[in-house]
Amino acid sequence: MSMVELRPARRVVRAEDFYSRPHMPADMPVAERVLDYWERHNRVQLPRPDQTDVLRPVLAYVNHGRWVADCDCNSAQVVSPADPRFLCPECVNAVSGGRWRPVLFPADPAEIEATFDEATPDRQINWHPDPNNLVFNDRAP
Ligand SMILES: [Zn+2]
Repeated sequence: MSMVELRPARRVVRAEDFYSRPHMPADMPVAERVLDYWERHNRVQLPRPDQTDVLRPVLAYVNHGRWVADCDCNSAQVVSPADPRFLCPECVNAVSGGRWRPVLFPADPAEIEATFDEATPDRQINWHPDPNNLVFNDRAP
């Protein structure tokens, strides 16, 4: 028996990890889970836009072990490369007229995630994008 155990790479928390709840159907789009979460906690109804403001993307970065993006209103949310759309529950993307904003991720988010191991404390799991290495992946409906 080997004394060496392979330590799995730390997986930085994504929106599907952070916002998913048992009541949510498996096919609920990842970017809409934050909206459902917010609606249930605040007893409000939020829109599901059918357009995207491609001119105002938000940048994904890693903060304390989570992929997050900031809104112009100073709110922030956990995001995912699996569904790189952003709708702020607080201002409903006022700067974009209520449309989705694309989330720009690095070319290989898993590569970033793999640079952190299990022993790294959350507060030390941070990464900021290189503006020259961003991927535009518009999955707008
Ligand atoms: Zn906002």
